[in-house]
Amino acid sequence: MSRSLIILHGGTVLTMDGARPTDAATRAADRPGVPDAAGRRASAICIAGDIVLAVGTDAEILALAEADSTVVDLAGRAILPGFVDPHAHPYWEGTVATRPSLEDAPDLRAAMRALPGAGEHLEPDAWIVARYNQARWLDGRHPTRDDLDRAVPDRPVVLAHVSGHAAVANSLALALAGITAATPDRPGAAVLLRDSTGEPTGVIEGTEAWAALAHAMPLPGPGEVDVAMRVAAARLAADGVTWVADADLGSVMTLEHELAAYGDAVARGTFPLGLSLMPGLVHLAPRPDDDPPTPADVMGRLPAAVRAAIVVRHVKLKADGALTTRTAWLMSPYADAPGHAGRPVHEPAALVERVRRAARAGWGVATHAIGDAGVVAVLDAYDAADAATDTADTAAGAVPHAAHRVEHGMLLEPAVVARLAARPRPIVAQPEFTAWAGDIYLRRLGEARAGRLLPYAELLAARVPLAFSSDRPVVAGAPLAGIRAALAHDAGISVAEALHAWTATAASVAGADRAGVLAAGRRADLVILPADPTAIPATAWAGGADGLVVVATFAGGRLVHGAIDGLRTAEPEEPGRPRRRRR
Ligand SMILES: [Zn+2]
Repeated sequence: MSRSLIILHGGTVLTMDGARPTDAATRAADRPGVPDAAGRRASAICIAGDIVLAVGTDAEILALAEADSTVVDLAGRAILPGFVDPHAHPYWEGTVATRPSLEDAPDLRAAMRALPGAGEHLEPDAWIVARYNQARWLDGRHPTRDDLDRAVPDRPVVLAHVSGHAAVANSLALALAGITAATPDRPGAAVLLRDSTGEPTGVIEGTEAWAALAHAMPLPGPGEVDVAMRVAAARLAADGVTWVADADLGSVMTLEHELAAYGDAVARGTFPLGLSLMPGLVHLAPRPDDDPPTPADVMGRLPAAVRAAIVVRHVKLKADGALTTRTAWLMSPYADAPGHAGRPVHEPAALVERVRRAARAGWGVATHAIGDAGVVAVLDAYDAADAATDTADTAAGAVPHAAHRVEHGMLLEPAVVARLAARPRPIVAQPEFTAWAGDIYLRRLGEARAGRLLPYAELLAARVPLAFSSDRPVVAGAPLAGIRAALAHDAGISVAEALHAWTATAASVAGADRAGVLAAGRRADLVILPADPTAIPATAWAGGADGLVVVATFAGGRLVHGAIDGLRTAEPEEPGRPRRRRR
């Protein structure tokens, strides 16, 4: 098969190949010839179809050019492996992008005044769904059903907290979802706040708060799904992301609906990025002693044509909630809520049982744990499940599974870092969180404990696999913003290490075996930046003065965002925008 080559030369190529992010000698720098966390450096790269054909010097790579090759002079720009986001929620991001946000309202009253307008263009029976973050409002209190009923009495309204760990509904939405004073609480998962008479106030807290209401909503139609998937892909590509994991499939609407949405979008080429899907374990196995289907079973529900393109290796599980909503599980009480320390979503024995059954079915388990008590409970469960799996299940012919991961892993006491050093488990962290909510974390935890949030340099020194991710749409999620936030949060890590956490390590935890590194035979996933990011001092990054933007993004050899030297995307980048005319 003939395939015309794309040659990019005259720049800096940071391959991440052979990178050594945790090597003490290279962390101290100034060792010429020793690869640092950015890996091997080159000046040119050749792409053939969807793979990298070669990386090397300008002379080596230009010698490969054929008559029909596209040759682009980078003029000093830099090429990195495309960013990999191993924990995001693209379908959720695509759907909320079309919905209003009340986050920018100064207070609750202003938010309620804005709400009726959100229903203006909707069908008469459609639900109003908007996002909110009461911690950003002056009065700082959650809205209640009464607030929502006064603003919009005649159609169902659900406000989803940006963290995903709380929601508020008006009376009509509560009625449609079957939620009454008699509805039992599920501690950690879905707890109804109640007034003095026991009536629900409309506020639901816990990891399943949204799900308690979403099951009553009509499923989005094919047109809405198509827009959501295109918007999600366009936003990711614009931020230089070429591979993404949906880290809780089935949590927005239903597992079947979301599998179909991704399967269809990948088959039609409207989601042109690498993709890992991580089903929510509670959707595969509702009770702790249910055996989940295997990864192959879930893969079998996708269209045959896309199975080779999608990675299905991890399930998502939640051990606790969020600091912003005081639902993360702490060893000792919140600084701003005496006597309250959050609580686990699953009892310890049930957590072990869920992990063990998932692992036996061939799944790596990726568990959300934010508070110090939540993280310890997850590590305990992984150790206990591993021990049980090693003895009983391996003998019974269980399939090997991907490494269990800790999602967020925010509050890490020294003893926990030491435990991770002894038995490494990947930490999938979200560096932008500390920039987004650092002031709230300080109030929730007090100064001493807040100082133990996300100790990146300690984790790297302990050789813990540290991957960066976004959790978008909880935050905006651009990897460049994440690097700025990481370097502002912890002066002990280097720019190259932050880049490594967004590429090579992120790819390995996402199961993206051919992504994350630029080398012959790897996926042609790359991002072009205006200059070598490692040549910009970390202090400039931390101060937001790096001046970098994403110039162009290639996913699988295809330009999916931006333009460079005559190469430009063929498709409009966001649906609805006019197609750019080719010159
Ligand atoms: Zn998440």
